Amino acid sequence: MFVWLQPGGETGVSNAGVVLDDDGITVIDTLMVRSQWEPFATAVHALDRPVRRVVLTHAHVDHVGGTKSFPHAAVYASTITSALLDQEMPIDAYKAFMPAFVDEFDELDELGTRPVSHLVDDVAQLTGRVEVLPATGHTAGDLMVLVADADVLFAGDLCFFGVTPLAFQGDPATWADTLEVLTDLADVIVPGHGPIGGADDVRDLRAYLRCCVAGSVPSGPWDSWLERERDAINIEKAAMLRDGNDGMPPSMLRAIGLG
Ligand SMILES: [Zn+2]
Repeated sequence: MFVWLQPGGETGVSNAGVVLDDDGITVIDTLMVRSQWEPFATAVHALDRPVRRVVLTHAHVDHVGGTKSFPHAAVYASTITSALLDQEMPIDAYKAFMPAFVDEFDELDELGTRPVSHLVDDVAQLTGRVEVLPATGHTAGDLMVLVADADVLFAGDLCFFGVTPLAFQGDPATWADTLEVLTDLADVIVPGHGPIGGADDVRDLRAYLRCCVAGSVPSGPWDSWLERERDAINIEKAAMLRDGNDGMPPSMLRAIGLG
């Protein structure tokens, strides 16, 4: 089993994973643009085993942009992720939100992503080592991957360590509830963004999300986290959901150049 960590974990900079079974490889998430997925895919292909499966933890572009680099793998994701991948990519929004990668998005637009071939909406043991667990919080269609024999959980964007989480398409309250039980699954947690962590990191993330639900974020362990401008988006999203509005927070619309 391997973890592909991109240092920092700021916007657009995510992690991926590789699990080996007897029949070949399962890849977990595929990064975003060529400068990210090409070195990852090269390292995976250097293992010289067939890539049988790609599991997408959710539909955000920084996790799905590299699916074409594994052309022969079955693609597993939730129904919600599948529906989002079937829509046209909002390339202009990506350029506004992730200016560090502005030169690479036109190629991504041309290349596109692979469609989901296998829907996973219930707990599923894909292989002897790979168990897929549906969850909600970061989006309505999150998947986590448990490798129980290694005591490792690939949490996707249900975990951000050292980086402020982003809930513009999620639900901070539900997300915090999911984190209550997540640490029962494994001791080692691979987040969608940031370094590998464990129960203490999950506890801090949960406390932060509860603050967002309460409407303000006081000083805390998150003082050193990257991307704290996301506080406003997370607080706004929690307040909107309390009013029954699951729309895009105005602060997020401004961040993608539409406000
Ligand atoms: Zn995400």
